[in-house]
Amino acid sequence: MALYKEKPRTTSGKIKRERESRKGICFNTGRTHFKKGITPWNKGKKGMPLTEKQKAQYERMRGKRKPKPDGFSEKMRLINPPLGRKQPKDGRNIHKKARVSRGEYVMIYKPEHPSSRKKAPDYGYVLEHRYIMEKHLGRPLKKKEVIHHIDGDKANNNIDNLVLCDNAREHNIIHTEMELFVEKLIKEKRVKYDREAKEFVFV
Ligand SMILES: [Zn+2]
Repeated sequence: MALYKEKPRTTSGKIKRERESRKGICFNTGRTHFKKGITPWNKGKKGMPLTEKQKAQYERMRGKRKPKPDGFSEKMRLINPPLGRKQPKDGRNIHKKARVSRGEYVMIYKPEHPSSRKKAPDYGYVLEHRYIMEKHLGRPLKKKEVIHHIDGDKANNNIDNLVLCDNAREHNIIHTEMELFVEKLIKEKRVKYDREAKEFVFV
């Protein structure tokens, strides 16, 4: 079989090809090929004894190595414990707690869920409030659908505290409504703003 497809080239190209094929390097792919019958330079040289000069050089390099202090490897093992098998980069084997707090929100470990996180550090986790609403509806949530927490506590994922909104706009309307409602309570003198405490209080 030919080493590579012969194409008519200019004289200089032909010379270059010949030169490259002699070295066993394919001129257009850069890969090393060997034609049958060409003996590699290192054939049968495995385990070749070192020459006296090479031995002396090796010993010289060994002598330059500083001996490690006592208990060095034990100390290193504490700082950098052996991991055993290499961990996947997405962190799928790192944490498997069923329920974790993520800022104001709660996430649950559901790696089989289609919209579970696919990257570290939350690999396999889904937002609990979305999961609970899905269970309640009996269908997966659409990406644009938003869940509102009625009491404002994002960790209170009781179904009675959750409202399904078709999209972010509908969710914003709820928050605007809350503002308007506080203003209504102020006008009715049922609520007032405490300037010192910087909060709304019941009258
Ligand atoms: Zn909300």
